[in-house]
Amino acid sequence: MKTRIVCFLLLVLPGLALEAAIAPGPAKPFLHKVTDGVYTVIGQMDAPNAANRGYMCNVTFIITGKGVVVVDSGGSLENGRMLIRHIRRITDKPVTHVINTHAHADHWFGNHAFSQLTPKPVIIGHANMKKRAREIAPRWLRFMERSTKGASRGTRPVLPDRTVTGNTVLKTGGVEIRLIHTGFSHTRGDLVVWLPQKRVLITGDVLTYKRIPGMRDASPLGNIRALEMLLQLPARHVVPGHGPVSDRRAIRYMLGYLRLLRREVARYQDQGLQPYEMLTRINVGKYVEMAMFSHQFRNNVFRMYHDIEQAQFGD
Ligand SMILES: [Zn+2]
Repeated sequence: MKTRIVCFLLLVLPGLALEAAIAPGPAKPFLHKVTDGVYTVIGQMDAPNAANRGYMCNVTFIITGKGVVVVDSGGSLENGRMLIRHIRRITDKPVTHVINTHAHADHWFGNHAFSQLTPKPVIIGHANMKKRAREIAPRWLRFMERSTKGASRGTRPVLPDRTVTGNTVLKTGGVEIRLIHTGFSHTRGDLVVWLPQKRVLITGDVLTYKRIPGMRDASPLGNIRALEMLLQLPARHVVPGHGPVSDRRAIRYMLGYLRLLRREVARYQDQGLQPYEMLTRINVGKYVEMAMFSHQFRNNVFRMYHDIEQAQFGD
């Protein structure tokens, strides 16, 4: 009898473990205090759908002496309005700036809601982000509307009105906000936000934690270099683009995954395997627990293959 139970558990447990691993995050976005004056509304670790209404990313509010600086703005007009309601629970100070970390619209379609505020905040993004965001906005609008079953309807793409190209320091209301451009990493227009006084690092999707990174616009090798650089910062709190707020452990986690992927892809590449042949052979160990693994793993392998080849032989 005992043996039979054990056998049954062995058959069932791997399935249960996988289910638990891919289960999405909290059903509703919730406000998390990172440290004094810094709050994050945590998104769901899932693709956009009717239940999460397109709110998947993390959006952070930095309270300064003059107002509120918002990092990312959610994936729709409705998401943006929900975020503004969260801000009003904390403070009635005006929103002075919205920083867009990159061009993927789940992070910036909420600009629409913030642009309707009076006074209107300044929206800041990297120049490459603005260019790419303009190009991809129409299809993202269709994607979000279809996948959320209309929850994002009425959203208008509002692009940054101030662009930066390199590293930039924004000092407002006694808070120093450093915008770090991490080069070609998650996209070609990433901005990471570093608050040296509070030792808070807000990464956009250069870092996702416990959620596989989407790499269709990424340089995986550039992303490794970016994470190695971010690991040098004396961060006490790390807010990833998706996934729970953590500390530098989150950076080491994703770095571990990308280095493992680089090693595995390079090994099979040397043996003459094509990316599609590697998919079932590559063993990513514990990283199979990452949310949305089945959505993105294939793309991760293809991008890594391409990047390694390019690093070896050029274009
Ligand atoms: Zn992204």
